[in-house]
Amino acid sequence: MARTRGSVCRLCRREGLKLFLKGTRCYTEKCAIERRNFAPGQHGKRRVKLQGYGVQLREKQKVKRLYGLLENQFRRGFQAASRKKGVTGELLLINLERRLDNVVYRLGFAASRAQARQIVSHGHVRVDGRKVDIPAYLVKPGQVLSLRAKMEKNDSFLASFEQARARGFPQWLLVDAGAFKGTVSTLPRREDITMPIQEQLIVELYSK
Ligand code: SF4
Repeated sequence: MARTRGSVCRLCRREGLKLFLKGTRCYTEKCAIERRNFAPGQHGKRRVKLQGYGVQLREKQKVKRLYGLLENQFRRGFQAASRKKGVTGELLLINLERRLDNVVYRLGFAASRAQARQIVSHGHVRVDGRKVDIPAYLVKPGQVLSLRAKMEKNDSFLASFEQARARGFPQWLLVDAGAFKGTVSTLPRREDITMPIQEQLIVELYSK
């Protein structure tokens, strides 16, 4: 996970959008976007109209920060998507959504993607019963994700899972709440990603 010095809420404020980087706090009135929805810094309240490159850059930064990636990781993901047949921007987003750390977060096994990444890299996640500790691993339809048995008694995990259940799970994941398991029923589709993202701007940025 990309390291951010200082408060990650500054990243949301810079993008002017909730990126849900902090888990539970993001759903409360303590969220910095609820209280100070302007860019951080001395000149944050000034309205600056971005154009061209600036708009494309902000869109890329938004998605990169949302999924917690470094620039090189994100660019490699873009290059992999651009080598495949199909719409590059959509393939990029779908591959980001298929990352194991993201799926662990979507299943409610962790409160944030940062926490999900930590859970994965510490070896707490099982894919079809086998330990997978690579956050960038791309899940496939039919795979079953679960946690190490001792994690199922962890209070933090139980709280995250209950909150995710209350919010609702994505349609492409089938969740067995009693057994704390999730099955990837299909690949995610573009319309399953509900964050406001204009991926075409990212394609334009990297195509210069
Ligand atoms: Fe972003 Fe969450 Fe901080 Fe709100 S609380 S600004 S959504 S990281």
